[in-house]
Amino acid sequence: MKKRLVLIGATGSVGTNVLDIVRKNPDDFTIMGLTAHTDTDALHALQHEFQPPLGVTCAVSDMSAMVCDDRVDMVVVACLGTEVREMLLAAIKHKKEIAIATKELLVEYGHEIMREAKRNGVTILPVDSEHSGVFQLLEGNRHRTLEKITLTCSGGPFLHASKKMLQSATVKQALQHPTWDMGKKISIDSATMMNKALEIIEAHHLFDIEPENIEVLVHPQSLVHAMVHFSDGTSMAHMGHADMRIPIHYALYYPESSDAAVPKLDLAGNELVFEKPDTETFPSILFAYEALKKGGDYPKRLNRANDRAVKLFMEKKIRFDEIFQYIKEQAFAT
Ligand code: MG
Repeated sequence: MKKRLVLIGATGSVGTNVLDIVRKNPDDFTIMGLTAHTDTDALHALQHEFQPPLGVTCAVSDMSAMVCDDRVDMVVVACLGTEVREMLLAAIKHKKEIAIATKELLVEYGHEIMREAKRNGVTILPVDSEHSGVFQLLEGNRHRTLEKITLTCSGGPFLHASKKMLQSATVKQALQHPTWDMGKKISIDSATMMNKALEIIEAHHLFDIEPENIEVLVHPQSLVHAMVHFSDGTSMAHMGHADMRIPIHYALYYPESSDAAVPKLDLAGNELVFEKPDTETFPSILFAYEALKKGGDYPKRLNRANDRAVKLFMEKKIRFDEIFQYIKEQAFAT
């Protein structure tokens, strides 16, 4: 039986990887519908190639009908932003399998999404590499008591940079991620470590774990993506190359599994380093703990403030180091 997919955000970085897996495995998947935000040329090229029975669309209002169609098994949410919240909730109510890469949705509406998923018996499959790692580590370990999880981050292009150095950091430098090849917004978020801040909030909702039990470690090699620590003294790490195809492949095939055409890990000769993040220079993750502590719409305010800050930085209206001050003022000022 082929798994029948609707892909929300077909022209983005994750969407492109999803389609690559589908192309390589035509016996396992059928594309039922595709959506994009604005790139209609690319979307029409994909329509021509995949000929999805439910068509293609850029209109958010049309997406809800598309994902609720009886012929759809799984909805892969890989767009930017939170405009598709209604669509996602509709898909959950129709008991579709959900693979989600859009962390902003979980940051802003995680409580609601997880509540509806639970109510409808739907498993939310994280596509974010760290969260896919935690998800996989918890599989088969539900009988243990989880005490803490660790999310790793590479530290981005400005690892070990001083505050002074950050003053002159350019957009071009900020987009040069050392280990991951990703979209622009998430690359800037990695450089500021706001990506990890959003991931703390994402993890809090996905795994129902208190913020103080979510730890972040800088791990420049990006080979360990996540760890779980159980009360019985056992810690487990999830490892693999920094390649988004791996968590995407896992989510698409879940609860089954299949061989992935990706480079396999060989640890010989690798040195793995873990450090505490420098929250003095990069306060982003402190913002996440603060937003979760304050609750209410603070996580949403944090996400929105970050969106605006990234935009202003990309437009060269604020300096890189001013992003932190901007977010702090915008998200937490009363
Ligand atoms: Mg991630």
